[in-house]
Amino acid sequence: MAGTGVFADILDGEVYKYYADGEWRASGSGKSVAIVNPTTRQTQYRVQACTQEEVNKVMEGAKVAQKAWARTPLWKRAELLHKAAAILKEHKAPIAECLVKEIAKPAKDAVTEVVRSGDLVSYTAEEGVRILGEGKLLVSDSFPGNERNKYCLSSKVPLGIVLAIPPFNYPVNLAVSKIGPALIAGNALVLKPPTQCLLCNQGAVAALHMVHCFHLAGFPKGLISCVTGKGSEIGDFLTMHPGVNCISFTGGDTGIAISKKAGMVPLQMELGGKDACIVLEDADLDLVAANIVKGGFSYSGQRCTAVKVVLIMETVADTVVEKVNAKLAKLKVGPPEDNCDITPVVTESSANFIEGLVMDAKEKGATFCQEYRREGNLIWPLLLDHVRPDMRIAWEEPFGPVLPVIRINSVEEGIHHCNASNFGLQGCVFTRDINKAIMISDAMESGTVQINSAPARGPDHFPFQGLKDSGIGSQGITNSINMMTKVKSTVINLPSPSYTMG
Ligand code: NAP
Repeated sequence: MAGTGVFADILDGEVYKYYADGEWRASGSGKSVAIVNPTTRQTQYRVQACTQEEVNKVMEGAKVAQKAWARTPLWKRAELLHKAAAILKEHKAPIAECLVKEIAKPAKDAVTEVVRSGDLVSYTAEEGVRILGEGKLLVSDSFPGNERNKYCLSSKVPLGIVLAIPPFNYPVNLAVSKIGPALIAGNALVLKPPTQCLLCNQGAVAALHMVHCFHLAGFPKGLISCVTGKGSEIGDFLTMHPGVNCISFTGGDTGIAISKKAGMVPLQMELGGKDACIVLEDADLDLVAANIVKGGFSYSGQRCTAVKVVLIMETVADTVVEKVNAKLAKLKVGPPEDNCDITPVVTESSANFIEGLVMDAKEKGATFCQEYRREGNLIWPLLLDHVRPDMRIAWEEPFGPVLPVIRINSVEEGIHHCNASNFGLQGCVFTRDINKAIMISDAMESGTVQINSAPARGPDHFPFQGLKDSGIGSQGITNSINMMTKVKSTVINLPSPSYTMG
């Protein structure tokens, strides 16, 4: 059970502690942040509201720990990561329990998130020993005017302190996708899990349990820290802190604001999306319907890579809408504990926002394929047909179980809508014509295009990136390790070109 057994240390009465200098602590602020259960809409947990002074202390400790960690042999770093991965998987049940209660993730998916996270950490350890074990040798005489008298040895070295800020929807997986690469590369890591902001995000308590697994694995003190508190209160202080050498952020528009404020440090930003699903006449329509339902409604549409707009050729639209409606009717709606397909969205303000988009579409004449139904944070799945570009839902990210369908008369029309979006995370195209699919993929301005499948992040070693307002840089295990390092060169200067002997 959460907060008990090996996790008893992380709880102080009713408030979960923060993690600094290798121990669990109560904040001197005496304040805490409530984590509201989306299903019951009651306070489920409380976490410490850390102070700026405590953040300063964490940064000082991280700086010292990082210097020693960078000198720890790579294989030893990998060994500890493997250990943490195994502990994480061993304790999947209490961590999954937090995900169910904090973010209403269906119970089965919650367990999957923890197991996938353990696998990600192990894979990162393995990938790290390979790619960080390699360097480059360059010789000078390839550049005009040079002889072979300079040998350049270059390898990858850590950046220093990486600040990791994950969002509410995958607070464990999207935290370890930053923690693993940072640590294997020799960096220290400061985690700011989601707690509460304008949209009242949850996920911190699951993240604290995950961090405890790294503690149990025996990482040096100060190397990993986890500070909790409202993003709006300590967020700016953290992101603008002079001790931070890299920021890896996943979330919404907050990332754009951080990018403008952050100093001269490398940024990895994985932000929102409006993933388009383009359906051509020759597509396998059963496959399309299955992917629209899975892609648009899994975890109640609260996924960055959810299908967020369907752009479908008019000639096949009726058939697909009918097939999708038949599948939606079979979805189980209810609490996450019962493994329902559609569970309450994360907060009341999220539900209000989704409702605002739905009402705007209604006023402007969209066809409701189901009756709009909401109880508290729970919104029943809704397909909106005949959506037009003047409706907000054609462009905005609902992050809920409502999906707009825009009927198109040409592929170009679909591509045009996709590219007119300020987002460019992923997209997908359904057709049996692979040549056409490749051309459409090339034309779509998004970080990844899936052919004949709904957008998805993963497998976790695949590159993952957004264009335009969807992000900066690229994730995926290898890309993240590389991003959290810099190249260091040593040049051997010979008194005379090396080929003058013999
Ligand atoms: P969010 O509101 O942007 O929050 C993300 C994180 O930023 C939270 O940890 C939040 O902490 C923190 N934060 C808030 N204000 C901050 C500040 N001033 N400085 C530093 N950190 C601050 O996003 P969300 O609602 O959790 O997640 C939903 C969004 O994430 C959607 O737009 C979705 O598309 C996107 N997303 C993108 C990806 C991707 O890989 N592209 C993956 C998943 C989700 P507090 O909660 O404590 O305020």
